[in-house]
Amino acid sequence: MSDHIFGRSTKGTLPVAVAGDGCYLIDASGKRYLDGSGGAAVSCLGHSNAAVRAALHDQLDRMAFAHTGFFTSQPAEQLADTLIANAPEGIERVYLVSGGSEAVEAALKLARQYFLEIGQPQRHRVIARRQSYHGNTLGALATGGNEWRRAQFAPMLIETSHISACYEYRGRAEGESVEAYGLRAADELEAEIQRLGPQSVMAFVAEPVVGATAGAVPAVKGYLKRIREICDRHGVLLILDEVMCGMGRTGYLFACQEDGVAPDMITIAKGLGAGYQPIGALLVQGRIYNAIAAGSGFFQHGHTYMGHAMAATAANAVLAEILGKDLLARVRAQGEKLQAALLDAFGDHPHVGDIRGRGLFRGVELVADRTTKAPFDPSRKLSARIKAEAFKAGLICYPMGGTIDGQSGDHVLLAPPFIIEDAQIDELVGKLSGAIDRALSA
Ligand code: PMP
Repeated sequence: MSDHIFGRSTKGTLPVAVAGDGCYLIDASGKRYLDGSGGAAVSCLGHSNAAVRAALHDQLDRMAFAHTGFFTSQPAEQLADTLIANAPEGIERVYLVSGGSEAVEAALKLARQYFLEIGQPQRHRVIARRQSYHGNTLGALATGGNEWRRAQFAPMLIETSHISACYEYRGRAEGESVEAYGLRAADELEAEIQRLGPQSVMAFVAEPVVGATAGAVPAVKGYLKRIREICDRHGVLLILDEVMCGMGRTGYLFACQEDGVAPDMITIAKGLGAGYQPIGALLVQGRIYNAIAAGSGFFQHGHTYMGHAMAATAANAVLAEILGKDLLARVRAQGEKLQAALLDAFGDHPHVGDIRGRGLFRGVELVADRTTKAPFDPSRKLSARIKAEAFKAGLICYPMGGTIDGQSGDHVLLAPPFIIEDAQIDELVGKLSGAIDRALSA
């Protein structure tokens, strides 16, 4: 192996992945790993989808790339049409990029330019939420509320306000109804807009189902509707980050469709290319595009690989699979089975405090004490141990430490391919259960 690659960690060596087979990845020694988290909620069709492979071969034989400064391409045009045909109300335009962080950066800059175009140059402030992740580039990192990720770079980050996430397990008070909690959590946005001065606020950014930072935490019913009302009242743009929870992961193509809310902008990535190609997109309301078209006529942004023909081809083939094979219904059905299997395995576990999520996007939160919900001491590195134990047993899952801001415990995120079979759900939960128990007893 090369000594020259510089990956996430400089410690230890990783197995070499050489092949994919449905829900499994295979390393150079022939060991098979059940992909229980699709990497990081990426591989929604598994690792050897025949239709996506065929589409990519075919496009590569014709043309791989034409710079968007000169050309558009059939795959990019088709992708935009499919996304818009299936998007929430009012969403009319698509800006194609190469990943999630790029989509979030584009959203922030487009929001700013929109307000300049409509004569509100004083609007530039962003409000987001604690326990959120929006990417690792500087604008996206500033937006995210994950303190651990932000800490080293804090002096370089644009100022962003963070309100509480909608996190029922941690946030709902004893005796408070779920509905009342959702409204109370949303009303933090109203208070923060008032504090900052409504005329200065540009956008509110949130994940409808929190992914990496809190472990598949869905907003409770009514929360996003109230958020939409608050944004409308103050002329603030609502940007929903569906990089992880979008593209069918929750059983809806866009997670916010289940909440009955149409945002001003949506970011997507991960499942859009399903790992076959790197691709992301920013979807925007027609009025935002129209303001720019009627004004300067040019969104002052761009990347070399935007609208890449190969990436768009992969996304077209992925969407054809999801929509053409009714995988959304399958995600809902298999998601219920996964939730039932998790409840079966961990419902009475002394160190599992919460089992939650939507569709095939599930989270298991670990606590030192179920009654007080006290998290484990971060020095115990429980989630890292679970990841290592699971991996040894041939399961890929996505555990995350509870060091975010001392407010949540360790958790494990599960996001298996939409094609997961019942027997593989059993294998996933069985291996996870063993890994959690071994990690706890270590
Ligand atoms: N937003 C969310 C909600 C994410 O989960 C992620 C990636 N985990 C990103 C943005 C950043 O995406 P990328 O890693 O593709 O830049």
